[in-house]
Amino acid sequence: MGNIVAIVGRPNVGKSTFFNRLTQSRDAIVEETSGVTRDRHYGNTEWNGIYFSVIDTGGYVLDSEDVFEEEICRQVELAIEEADKIIFLVDAMEGLTDMDKDVAALLRKCKKTVFLVANKIDTPIKIAEAAEFYSLGLGNVHAISAVNGSGTGELLDELVDDMENEPEEEEHDIPRIAFVGRPNVGKSSLINALLGKERNIVTDVAGTTRDTIYTRFNAFNFDLELVDTAGLRKKGKVYENIEFYSTLRSVRAIEKADVCILMIDADHGIESQDLNIIHLIQKHNKGLVIACNKWDLVEKETNTHLKFEEQIRKRIAPFHDVPIIFTSVLNKQRIHKTLEKAVEVYNNRTRKISTSQLNEHLLEIIQQTPPPTATRGRFIKIKYITQLKTYYPSFVFFCNRPQDLKDSYKRFLEKHIRNLWNFEGIPITMYFREK
Ligand code: GDP
Ligand code: GDP
Repeated sequence: MGNIVAIVGRPNVGKSTFFNRLTQSRDAIVEETSGVTRDRHYGNTEWNGIYFSVIDTGGYVLDSEDVFEEEICRQVELAIEEADKIIFLVDAMEGLTDMDKDVAALLRKCKKTVFLVANKIDTPIKIAEAAEFYSLGLGNVHAISAVNGSGTGELLDELVDDMENEPEEEEHDIPRIAFVGRPNVGKSSLINALLGKERNIVTDVAGTTRDTIYTRFNAFNFDLELVDTAGLRKKGKVYENIEFYSTLRSVRAIEKADVCILMIDADHGIESQDLNIIHLIQKHNKGLVIACNKWDLVEKETNTHLKFEEQIRKRIAPFHDVPIIFTSVLNKQRIHKTLEKAVEVYNNRTRKISTSQLNEHLLEIIQQTPPPTATRGRFIKIKYITQLKTYYPSFVFFCNRPQDLKDSYKRFLEKHIRNLWNFEGIPITMYFREK
């Protein structure tokens, strides 16, 4: 199980307020780069040292009176299917409503852990107002105020209590590659073109967990497991809100994969949803390959692909050391290349640099361009570097005054690591510790 938490509930109970409280300051990077907060429906957060993903289902609901009851129930069903834990928010100021009862009925049937949370309890006197929600039959009622934060600490303590930090990757020998991206970019088409046949689509039973599907791909000298997110096209069930569903699937697939092939539509370029996905891939320390698909639709002049590449790299900065491939599934152009690159990136992810190599090369660079002196005029000295035994590349720099080291200098170090060794497509984690 991963650490995916979905916030569900009817409109105006405070879902996005609570979501923002959980993710805001910590997710500032996404906001900065995308420039859009409105469509930010999921983020990462941390409590007691445990990282988890939060999905705000509310952002997807169309605010029109007659459709929403049905729409909300559908969101809840999807959340049940895809999330690990569910926070069901109700409004203590308004009290129990029929819609709350309908949502509760769905949640009572599911096997996921549900936290029933009465929001808008801004003062202790109001805690009594939470009592009526016990009748929903979902156990304990957590009283919180999303606006001032009271009660949220206790709720989060319980929420993360049995979560593992960094959901440990399941043991597996065969590289796992996920195709992620917005609806309609060509994920299913690509997978079908690779597999050469229509895949079996596993039918799901309502209210049960449907784990992401792995398809063994053993052909053309590849031996891989493809992590299916494109299983979106479920026969007989057409989701109006494909975007929401694909987000849920992507979050799960990213957790399961070693390397993600993010497909974008050449016609649209990188969109803010894509940046969210990249951010998530980075947070989970997974590999990334960008496939710019539908290349056949683009009118080309000299160097068109270089210009595209440059634009993409600008958008995804600072994590721009990423392979970008221009594909056309329609014309069968470079579709195997996506997998070749993914395998390269997989290998980069397992790359281990010996301590002696690291110190020999990096200490010299550091000596030539030492860290700028700290504010109080003290020198920062990096003495020793070593790579940790994590399943993704992470490095520790032992130094005095690590807290004074500037971000710009950290980026300088990362740039040199990338110049010296091949970590293309891989986020690099760096720790600075006092020895
Ligand atoms: P959503 O539709 O469920 O995402 O709800 P919002 O987060 O947009 O909140 C709906 C309204 O409830 C907004 O006006 C919020 O300011 C208000 N609200 C949210 N949480 C609280 C709270 O803890 N206390 C009070 N008094 N108001 C809240
Ligand atoms: P998914 O939602 O990401 O799985 O996207 P699909 O694989 O269902 O593709 C969406 C649409 O884009 C379909 O009509 C495909 O035929 C079309 N499509 C996929 N790849 C290409 C391509 O390389 N070029 C063009 N022109 N159309 C494509």
